[in-house]
Amino acid sequence: MSEVFNFCAGPAMLPKAVMVKAQEEFINWNSTGSSVMELSHRSSIYMAMAAQAETDLRELMAIPNNYKVLFCHGGGRGQFSAVPLNLLPQGKSADYIVNGSWSKAAATEAKNFGEINVINIRETHADGETSLTPSQNWALNEDAAYVHYCPNETVDGIEMNEIPETKGVPLVADMSSTILSHEIDVTKFGLIYAGAQKNIGPSGLTIVIVREDLLGNAQQATPCIMNYQTSANNDSMYNTPPTYAWYLAGLVFQWLKTLGGVKAIASINQQKAELLYQTIDNSDFYQNNIETKYRSKMNIPFWLKDESLNDTFLAQAEAQGLMALKGHRIVGGMRASIYNAMPIEGIQALVTFMKKFEQENK
Ligand SMILES: *Cc1c(COP(=O)(O)O)cnc(C)c1O
Repeated sequence: MSEVFNFCAGPAMLPKAVMVKAQEEFINWNSTGSSVMELSHRSSIYMAMAAQAETDLRELMAIPNNYKVLFCHGGGRGQFSAVPLNLLPQGKSADYIVNGSWSKAAATEAKNFGEINVINIRETHADGETSLTPSQNWALNEDAAYVHYCPNETVDGIEMNEIPETKGVPLVADMSSTILSHEIDVTKFGLIYAGAQKNIGPSGLTIVIVREDLLGNAQQATPCIMNYQTSANNDSMYNTPPTYAWYLAGLVFQWLKTLGGVKAIASINQQKAELLYQTIDNSDFYQNNIETKYRSKMNIPFWLKDESLNDTFLAQAEAQGLMALKGHRIVGGMRASIYNAMPIEGIQALVTFMKKFEQENK
């Protein structure tokens, strides 16, 4: 089989080296004669691996000691409920910045648990270009319990690089599709969460990074498996964690460290995105209408000007091993998700195909 590049938005491709290592030790991990997934999460060998994964993530992201790192279930959407349950006490409200479909979904879910102030920052310029309201013009409430936003909107292909200034109100970020893709200053955030299946590992694991002073104020009705304080008190093992996903995430963290850490991958990600956007911008066959400074480096939507060619484009791409390029159903067109595990060779193969397809169908 020739090489396949999977552009799926999530679950997404994992680094080849990680998959090979996992395969090698699949049925006999660390000379235990068992698979990782068959071992007790309370065995000392498993707990050592779990602790190492946390240490590696802390190192990769430079997470300060006054933050807890939690390995949870429930995905990104689980956190849409867990965040307000844990951080929004009775009588307070929270601000939700909406710039795309995931932040909108987060706001909708949060309304089940308290008063939510939705701030829509999506703008469309006269020429049809998609843009955002700059953060200094957001109508934030100084008494809010927290401000929630999504720095990279996976479906829409919109990324905000600048961290908004919230004047002391804890900032909560859904980093599901951007975590570990470039360096960030964790101290600017009260809480960061991310489903693992985009930039970390397989689905079933969700990472929560939370400042300690935000713990302990959960609403009365918070289910114990969603309570951050309970998770923190039990090293994320109050109930059985997603043990195999945790192990794979640990392998991805080690892979990233070997590569030179987040700074090194960020530079590769920059090159990958530039190559693809250049190909789109240099043609009048393809287009992306998001203002340059808000373009995502992880999820790149593009449209064929002649949409009647969509099915042919997708079929021929697949025949070349370029998989899952179909855009999300609500935005249409194409989308290339190019997370950390996508090698630059994948983008090269994609742009070569795009240029050839343009030649043949102009
Ligand atoms: C994929 C995604 C989600 C949803 O994740 P699930 O694990 O499917 O619940 C939430 N937010 C963002 C930004 C995402 O990309």
